[in-house]
Amino acid sequence: MSDDVKFLVNETKDRMIKLTQNLIAIPSPPGKEDAIRAYVKNEMESIGLDEIVIDGMGNIYGRLGKGKHSIALDCHMDTVDIGNLEKWVHDPFGGLITDGIIYGRGASDQKGGLASALSAIRIIKEIGLPKDLKLILVGSVGEEEHEGLNWQYLVEVEGIKPDFVILTEPTNLEIAIGQKGRVDLKIETDGVSAHGANPDLGVNALYKMLSIINSIIELQKNMPIDPLFGKSQISVTDIQSSSPNINATPDKTIIHVDRRLGSEESDVTAMTQLKNLQSVKTTNARIYIPEYTKQIGEGKSFSFKSYYPSWTMNQEHPLVQKAIRAYRYQFHQTPPLKYWPFSTNGAATKGIYNIPTIGFGPGKEEHAHTPEDQVAIDQLVDAMEYYVRLVQMYN
Ligand SMILES: [Zn+2]
Repeated sequence: MSDDVKFLVNETKDRMIKLTQNLIAIPSPPGKEDAIRAYVKNEMESIGLDEIVIDGMGNIYGRLGKGKHSIALDCHMDTVDIGNLEKWVHDPFGGLITDGIIYGRGASDQKGGLASALSAIRIIKEIGLPKDLKLILVGSVGEEEHEGLNWQYLVEVEGIKPDFVILTEPTNLEIAIGQKGRVDLKIETDGVSAHGANPDLGVNALYKMLSIINSIIELQKNMPIDPLFGKSQISVTDIQSSSPNINATPDKTIIHVDRRLGSEESDVTAMTQLKNLQSVKTTNARIYIPEYTKQIGEGKSFSFKSYYPSWTMNQEHPLVQKAIRAYRYQFHQTPPLKYWPFSTNGAATKGIYNIPTIGFGPGKEEHAHTPEDQVAIDQLVDAMEYYVRLVQMYN
């Protein structure tokens, strides 16, 4: 059996390299995934998956097998924008190969993972799935904008709730068993507008906010250190103020707060911490987590709160143990386990729905979202083989 896998991995390698290049060549910022989804659909059809569905949000998922146990391989298809083109040495959509490295936007985050996973399912289709298993490959959308929103839709509207989720985001071929969460917060102060000629007659909403911003700066200096994730973080990332005219004192000011959460922290922790600030109490500021509504075509919409919970997996969990066994089998050593410093779709799969989730993918996290975006071909090949081995562990 194992020789079959090695043989098929070698046989599929060139096709996978080309696939990675072709995926990189298709720009796919969040909300503009039509072209890449069509490409992925074509690839799924050529593999011969049993069912291919495009859901109302734009996610695509392909199913192999119909067993009662299910594993999902999640690959988000969108990437961040390229930023300043002049910063790029290689064409961001060129997929150029130099010394065994493929360059371009999304190479690491995470078109490499998508290509590896698609190629793995091609091999699995050929050698067969373990009995009682169903494998679902998800090409998810909009991850870079609202991670996990795609899975909220898949779980709640499409009824997809696998037993395990494997995220194919970059881990440098290490096994990720958790991530820092995050929550967006808005703080609003109210004022009373007065003519600029008589500002003392009014109450300046912006000045009220200044005291809150100062206390958040102080808060950041003393944020708790999480034993798993390191320091929790808080920062003010935006400010908006309105007044009847620029010759009048502002009557409303709103700041946006980006809060990164430790393993034991939640939206409630973050909210309480801010509500307890003296500056918030004395200014009567309003604090809330913004809710967004996403249009999903034909007058339908999907609402969600801008909260992306932290999550961790116990190392003794059967999924983690299987992941370790598959790794030992393939690499002949014990895998490094780690926590992602950034947020992924795991915020929904494990954070909201408690579906056992791990991450494993080609590419280094430090190349994600940079003009040096790249992935090593050796890692793509190893990841392809690993996904096959991991699925086989369910025998
Ligand atoms: Zn990503």
